[in-house]
Amino acid sequence: MQYRRFGRTGLQLSVFSLGTMRALRDRPTFESTLIAGFALGINHIETAQGYGSSEDWLGDFLETGDVPSDLVITTKVPPQPDAATMTQRLEASLARLGGNVTPCLAIHGINTPEHLAWISDPQGCMAPVRQLQAEGRLGPVGFSTHGSREVIEGAIATDQFDFINLHYYYFFQRHAPIIDLASQRDMGIFIISPGDKGGMLYRPPQRLAELCAPFSPLGLTYRWLLADLRITTLSTGPAIPAELAPLSPLVNQTHPLTAEESAALDRLTTQADTTLGSDRCAQCYACLPCPEAIHIPEVLRLRNLAMAYDMQAFGEYRYRMFENAGHWFPGRKANRCTDCGDCLPRCPEHLDIPTLLRDTHDRLKGPARRRLWDE
Ligand code: SF4
Ligand code: SF4
Repeated sequence: MQYRRFGRTGLQLSVFSLGTMRALRDRPTFESTLIAGFALGINHIETAQGYGSSEDWLGDFLETGDVPSDLVITTKVPPQPDAATMTQRLEASLARLGGNVTPCLAIHGINTPEHLAWISDPQGCMAPVRQLQAEGRLGPVGFSTHGSREVIEGAIATDQFDFINLHYYYFFQRHAPIIDLASQRDMGIFIISPGDKGGMLYRPPQRLAELCAPFSPLGLTYRWLLADLRITTLSTGPAIPAELAPLSPLVNQTHPLTAEESAALDRLTTQADTTLGSDRCAQCYACLPCPEAIHIPEVLRLRNLAMAYDMQAFGEYRYRMFENAGHWFPGRKANRCTDCGDCLPRCPEHLDIPTLLRDTHDRLKGPARRRLWDE
């Protein structure tokens, strides 16, 4: 396992981190997944207040002392509208994790301008965070985000955070400028679940597998991230120990991309160009805002991936989240388009956005759900 400096925290983290969101089937599975992660060389475990029993079980496991000496724990607590609520939430997390650890804290989901206002208020939810740090009960503090680039830039500009937990993948490069910015500020960079959120790459469609060969889509896109020295660590969220197996050949693969890997990535670009032609959304975001709150670029990104690489299952998985996940996945479904035409003059690619949105809805809406009274 390779280790990298986690930006200005000074911590040395394994290039893979173990997220515990899914390893919650039962306590023995949770513990055996941790042990398998340690055996691989992982020294960074991520939990969160929102991950069910995870903090509790992790705290109990830490009491056994059977952990790497350089183990780093990060827990995540959502931003709060006031300091008192934040104090309660932080104390609850620290109690669950127990006294054997001084965890890093990520503010879980600075996703909206309102969250940004909360964390920017000197008397607000960051005040108790700083108090606990001063008492030595919390380590470095960062934030995770599913927000817009503007919200993320705003959070970084507060200079309150030592690391960022970010969506950034081969198939979603919108946040490349955030990587630049965080790196310039010497922040640790922790990428959220590339295997899942980056494209459900542990179950790739055949067309994508063929384009990436002789590499696997998971391996190739992990390598694209691992070869970027600015990125500290990538989270993986196994449900069972066996799901860590695909990482084993990758844990030391941090060298620059090879010519063969670059050629495979070039094939992906060519495939997108030829398949999508003049319907390709360039992901410039110039079409926003839409008065119907359709997240046009994200809808069309899912269409790009489904058309170019047959990433239909991933497209359906993400498309289903519109109107179902609040600020964690904002935007309304594509069939809300009223043909108002506002977006059209803003698109430098001159795309017929309403037609493409309707096409995407038809492709990705998934099977119709039966109504209750039909059952
Ligand atoms: S045409 Fe449709 S997608 Fe474009 S701004 Fe109007 S409602 Fe939104
Ligand atoms: S303006 Fe056009 S190319 Fe740019 S994100 Fe919107 S639809 Fe895609």
